Amino acid sequence: TISEKPGVGNRILVFVRLRPMAKKEREAGSRCCVRIVNRGDVYLTEFASEHDYLRLKRLRGRHFTFDASFPDSTSQQEVYSTTTAELVEAVLQGRNGSVFCYGATGAGKTYTMLGTVENPGVMVLAIKDLFNKVRQRSFDGNHVVHLSYLEVYNETVRDLISPGRPLVLREDKQGIVAAGLTQYRAYSTDEVMALLQQGNQNRTTEPTRANETSSRSHAILQVAVEYQVKDESNNVVNRVGKLSLIDLAGSERALATDQRTLRSLEGANINRSLLALSSCINALVEGKKHIPYRNSKLTQLLKDSLGGACNTVMIANISPSNLSFGETQNTLHWADRAKEI
Ligand code: ADP
Ligand code: MG
Repeated sequence: TISEKPGVGNRILVFVRLRPMAKKEREAGSRCCVRIVNRGDVYLTEFASEHDYLRLKRLRGRHFTFDASFPDSTSQQEVYSTTTAELVEAVLQGRNGSVFCYGATGAGKTYTMLGTVENPGVMVLAIKDLFNKVRQRSFDGNHVVHLSYLEVYNETVRDLISPGRPLVLREDKQGIVAAGLTQYRAYSTDEVMALLQQGNQNRTTEPTRANETSSRSHAILQVAVEYQVKDESNNVVNRVGKLSLIDLAGSERALATDQRTLRSLEGANINRSLLALSSCINALVEGKKHIPYRNSKLTQLLKDSLGGACNTVMIANISPSNLSFGETQNTLHWADRAKEI
């Protein structure tokens, strides 16, 4: 459960979601190299046919435990309920939170966050739940829900709801804001799925693969809930809670688990925002006073939603295929590290 203690930084909750084997992977003759046992333990094994629990346990360094691990049969609703539902509740109490999906390209991040019309993902389910909860609480103040949906691509910030010129980040009394970003006032769940799908269409694509979202694009949905409460002296005060839901860029090659790897990666031409997020998480893990939020657009935008008293959730997406063994191992190592915060 989420700690209500003021001033005590919450641990990051870390989850792993295994997606089903894709037709393409099966056709390429790939075998399953991941086993999830007891809803928390993940075993990574090159021996695909390994089903013996005791032998799996002996494969050292290839066993990870998370707050929960979702086998490939897990429904979108279950992923939402386990990872994000409590954050939605907290937002209604004026607290900020964020949920990140990360993992290699093709591992299931966008499916988890956005999903499909038939199987909507965490973003849509969170908003649906939020509207239901707001309706139940309509007696205690007019909740106003605003959505913004933006992309960070190549250190450029773009509005995904009304795409146009790049947005400039500015610091004002509310913190860091993207100047001119659409704050969409939302009233119902139905309009939201269409809005998000349209927004996703507006994500940057690689010139060579015009129909595919670039693996270097981060999409951030922010849901802000503003409401009034009466304090002890019966004064009406404004409160805002904010939930950030982030479909990160593909993490291939960019997940550093220590400072040394981080430095060696900095020279390479890889995703600056992802590296900066990695640095911030590392700094939080190490309990540093200085968290380097300023190093990238992504971390600037999430400054008020990461660390401190915020609730942070990581969902690591992985493929079952042995063809992705290396990426899966990296993702799991990084997730394991994030757990220590
Ligand atoms: P990413 O965003 O990490 O690059 P996607 O979410 O686009 O990956 O997933 C890659 C493919 O796998 C898509 O066709 C997607 O529909 C499918 N997929 C991913 N996760 C699941 C899942 N849990 N169940 C069914 N299909 C999935
Ligand atoms: Mg994607």
